[in-house]
Amino acid sequence: MKKLIAFDLDGTLAESKQPIQPEMGTLLKQLLGVAAIAVISGGDWPQFETQVVAHIPAGSDLSRLFIMPTTGTKLYRYENEAWHAVYADVFDAAERKTIIDALDKASAEAGLNDSRTWGDKIEDRGSQITYSGLGQEAPLDAKKAWDPDFAKRKKLQAILQTMLPDLSINVGGSTSVDITRRGIDKAYAIRRLSEVIGIAAQDMLFLGDAMYPGGNDYPVKAAGIDSIAVRDVAETRSVVSAIIACLK
Ligand SMILES: [Mg+2]
Repeated sequence: MKKLIAFDLDGTLAESKQPIQPEMGTLLKQLLGVAAIAVISGGDWPQFETQVVAHIPAGSDLSRLFIMPTTGTKLYRYENEAWHAVYADVFDAAERKTIIDALDKASAEAGLNDSRTWGDKIEDRGSQITYSGLGQEAPLDAKKAWDPDFAKRKKLQAILQTMLPDLSINVGGSTSVDITRRGIDKAYAIRRLSEVIGIAAQDMLFLGDAMYPGGNDYPVKAAGIDSIAVRDVAETRSVVSAIIACLK
């Protein structure tokens, strides 16, 4: 019997960067009545607050909801009527400086410093440092047009990997490159969650829309955790309805 259902966020529970819809909120409330829930995504806590936490209907059992920002390098849970960070595996000051210096050098070397930008290019999420080629506030059209074939980011990734051999450098989103400690993926998130809350990984079920090799949900499946690939948010709703019917 599964005790916890874990979800990817973008493309699974909600459209990319959008809040969950009311129907999904209602389903999650019902699911919290029969199981614990974890949500894992690369975004930081404020992103989860606006996309998920603010849209869980009143009366839901929030004590069973686990929020895992920045690919599970942080865990938040609801206790004593407020959300708290349970842990955060953050970079220390020296690591952070090394990474930011490398990003400055590598982006110049890759020839990426000449385009127009919107907002800061480097975002420090504590346990993940994200480089956004056009800045964090760039409009969607500009972002989509910037590096459609991944060539710019792959070049940057290759340069960074030689400068930061002990870290993990991943291409993500439409303009971004994420830097984390090695071995940080959603399988790491599930292992870490299992240790901290004491629910065994075999009692968990994971749903995600990127369950193909190379997709950011694939490591969970590859680690042998029961996983369901969903096509989109509508399919997630169907699967969640079935899970609720089976568990209640
Ligand atoms: Mg996704």
